[in-house]
Amino acid sequence: MTEVRGQLLDGTITARALRNEVAREVAELVKSGKNPPHLAAVLIGDDPASHTYVGMKQKACAQAGIVSSIHTLPSSCTQANAENLVKSLNLDPSISGILVQHPLPSHLHETSVLDMVSPEKDVDGICRASLGGLINGEPAFPSCTPAGIIELLDRYSLPIEGKHAVVIGRSIILGKPVAVMLLNRNATVTICHSRTPDIAKHLLNADIVVAAVGKAEMIKGSMIKPGAVVIDAGYNKVEGRKGDVGDVEFETAVKVASYITPVPGGVGPMTIAILLRNTLRASQGRFS
Ligand code: NAP
Repeated sequence: MTEVRGQLLDGTITARALRNEVAREVAELVKSGKNPPHLAAVLIGDDPASHTYVGMKQKACAQAGIVSSIHTLPSSCTQANAENLVKSLNLDPSISGILVQHPLPSHLHETSVLDMVSPEKDVDGICRASLGGLINGEPAFPSCTPAGIIELLDRYSLPIEGKHAVVIGRSIILGKPVAVMLLNRNATVTICHSRTPDIAKHLLNADIVVAAVGKAEMIKGSMIKPGAVVIDAGYNKVEGRKGDVGDVEFETAVKVASYITPVPGGVGPMTIAILLRNTLRASQGRFS
């Protein structure tokens, strides 16, 4: 008997294509005499992971011809210091987009700092105005990882309308916005979370599964409807195993799914590609 094997949704290749498109558009802008887009990253404190992420984003900007700058504050800074920095970047016409790298030091009220970013420069798409825009169907930058998931589905021509999507996880940066994006594209959406009894029951009806939990290999192939499209946003460290592990048990799920993202190389690379595209659009004064 031939074994069914789902096709890979390759985020590395897809993100590279998107980044190349952005780079071409940036080059055309510059050729036409305009300034390149400029992404300003706000980096507060000395969280090593945040420094690494900002470094990765700067490198990606440079490859796309986007200017980037880092604006740092010490972890001892006050709420006013952080908010004033963001306000000054809002007012700087040379800056197209602002990214406040989170998490912020715990004494700061993170949402209030993020909310200082003007919606026209919120290329990370996570301030409350942007999330409100998403829910109201008004122009706003989409948050990067959820938009990356939708882009991946679109680039593989996988239909969303009329499908039953089950999103596991309801965080404000991932589960909730991706659920709204799927809903806006006319999917029927179920959101599961830590208090959902019997997640397996919901999953067995899912045409599209989005795992956004942060629990290594929680979702097994036996829980997935044959032929479902499986998107695994999870990145988990597991003792004794090299690299990152997804929320989905890949080896069992790939035998049931029609399409599936690997971890790494699935959702992850799409996030930065969308950030670059949002920054380009911000420099053009448009959201989409
Ligand atoms: P988070 O803020 O910790 O949220 C996790 C969500 O999963 C919560 O809504 C939680 O439910 C739910 N959950 C936890 N345990 C569960 C369980 N046993 N059953 C069902 N639901 C459960 O995490 P996040 O920031 O959304 O990230 C989720 C995963 O995506 C992580 O692995 C993260 O590393 C990854 N991620 C990847 C990218 C990327 O690829 N670029 C970006 C962001 C995040 P409650 O709300 O009830 O607590």
